[in-house]
Amino acid sequence: MSSARPEGGPRQRLFFALWPEAAVRTRLDQAGAALLGKRVKRVPAENLHLTLAFAGAVTATVRQCLQAAAADIRCPAFELSIGHIGHWSRPRIYWAGPVHTPPPLWSLAGMLQTALGDCGLQTETRPYQPHITLARKIQRAPDIQHIAPIDWSIRHFSLVESVTGPRAASYQLLGSWELEG
Ligand code: ATP
Ligand code: MG
Repeated sequence: MSSARPEGGPRQRLFFALWPEAAVRTRLDQAGAALLGKRVKRVPAENLHLTLAFAGAVTATVRQCLQAAAADIRCPAFELSIGHIGHWSRPRIYWAGPVHTPPPLWSLAGMLQTALGDCGLQTETRPYQPHITLARKIQRAPDIQHIAPIDWSIRHFSLVESVTGPRAASYQLLGSWELEG
């Protein structure tokens, strides 16, 4: 960036994600309902997503840098099969994820981490773990690890703004970029 001083002004909380279209979203939501029952507060269907890279609170300059970097990304389109159910006990997150992570998903997430670094942001040091959070504050590990796979064709990725709300975060899609093929 040209200025030595940190830029002031409003910041947006941003992340790159795969955003399911309606049919996939409905199937993910139904799977969550079947697994967790009615008494558990799940992630609202419209919020279900798979994070690729988390940017955090950024200035308009950094947002523009991220958008330009996203536009330069070349990655083939790919298929995901969401059939794995997982649970992390410390953040108490119950999630669904791909049975196998196809190489283009690793490379897309990697290219977006590189973009974060190139735009002056901190990059993730932990290994990438693709997951769709279905519910939070779940103490108990799931009884099952597999569901009937939900097929999801990945044709684009998105930049999303997260606005913290009183109940759940609300998300705004700021832009989407096509994958190749
Ligand atoms: P809330 O935090 O309001 O309960 P949320 O976690 O969905 O809701 P954000 O915290 O804005 O909303 O996160 C947006 C996405 O980025 C989520 O998928 C979240 O899991 C992921 N995320 C948040 N913080 C990080 C982080 N430090 N590293 C990696 N991914 C993150
Ligand atoms: Mg959060």
